[in-house]
Amino acid sequence: MSDADELARRKLLESKGRSFGSSASPNDRAPWAKNILIVTSGKGGVGKSTVAVNVASVFAQRDWKVGLLDADVYGPSVPRMLQVDDERLTWNEQERIVCAENFGMKVMSVGMTTPTPDTPLVWRASVATSALIQLLEDVDWGELDLLVVDMPPGTGDTQLTMAQELRVTAALVVTTPQVISTDDVRRAIKMLQDVHIPIGGIVENLSGFVAPDTGQRYAIFGEGGGKLLAEQYKLPFLGEIPIDMAVRQSSDAGTPIAVSGTAAQKAWYERIADGLLATGRFVQPKL
Ligand code: ADP
Repeated sequence: MSDADELARRKLLESKGRSFGSSASPNDRAPWAKNILIVTSGKGGVGKSTVAVNVASVFAQRDWKVGLLDADVYGPSVPRMLQVDDERLTWNEQERIVCAENFGMKVMSVGMTTPTPDTPLVWRASVATSALIQLLEDVDWGELDLLVVDMPPGTGDTQLTMAQELRVTAALVVTTPQVISTDDVRRAIKMLQDVHIPIGGIVENLSGFVAPDTGQRYAIFGEGGGKLLAEQYKLPFLGEIPIDMAVRQSSDAGTPIAVSGTAAQKAWYERIADGLLATGRFVQPKL
C-alpha cells in the first residue's frame, strides 16, 4: 500500500465521536439532498445494485442532480457498473472527499476506499458504519435533487444506521418472482416498517426469460412473487424486469442499460422512477 493510500484509509477511518439518532426522528446526515431513495432487497444477487444504478440514471437523464452512494459495504458493485472502479479517494482544497462522476451522476463507494478494487473489506460493523457516515458527511456531494443509496441486502447494521442517520424519502424493494422463499424480503419490508421508512414500491427482477431464438418465455425463478408481496403489504408494484443478457452485459461493461438500451429496456426503469414519483413523496426539482 502506498503512503497516499494509507493516508486516505486513515483519514476515512478517523473517528469523530458521532452520536447516533433514533429512526423515529432521524439524524439528517445529508441535508444537501432534496430526496433520498434507498434501494434494498431481502437477499443478495437479486439485481438490487443493477436497479439502483439504472433508476439513478433515469433521474440523471431527466436532469435531476443525482448522487449514488454504494452502501453495499461488503460487496460494492456500483463502481464497476459505472466505470469508476479504478478511481480512488482524493481530497479537495476544503479537505472534502471528491466524488467520482459518470453518466451525469456523482458516485461514492466504500469500494473506492480500498487500495485496489479487489481488496476485501475486513471491517467490523461499527467501522463500516462510521465509514458510511463519513461518506455522507465528508464527501463534497454538492446540492442534490436525489441521493440514491444502494443498501446491502438483508436487515443488518447498515440498514439500521441508514434509517437512523438519513431522512429517507422512500425505499425501493427489489425481489425475485419466486412466490415461496419470500421470508427474507418480508423481513426486509417489516424492518422498513418498524423503522418508519416509507416504502415507495416493490420491483420484481429476473422475471422470466424470453429465448431470443424461439420467443418462448421461461419462468426460471417462478412467477408472481413481486405482485403478491405488493398486494399483501398494500404497496405500489413498480413492474417486472425480465432476465435479459443485455442487462448483465451492460452492467459488466460499465454502461447502465437505462442509458444505452432499447426503448423497451429503458422503460423498465422509467416505470420505476414514475411509480416512485407517483407516491407524491418526492420533492420535484425546478428544472
Ligand atoms: P445484487 O445487488 O442484488 O447483489 P446485482 O445488481 O449485483 O445484484 O446483480 C447480480 C447479477 O445479475 C449481475 O451480474 C447483474 O448484471 C445481473 N442482473 C441483474 N439484473 C438482471 C436482469 N434483469 N437480467 C440479466 N442479468 C441481470
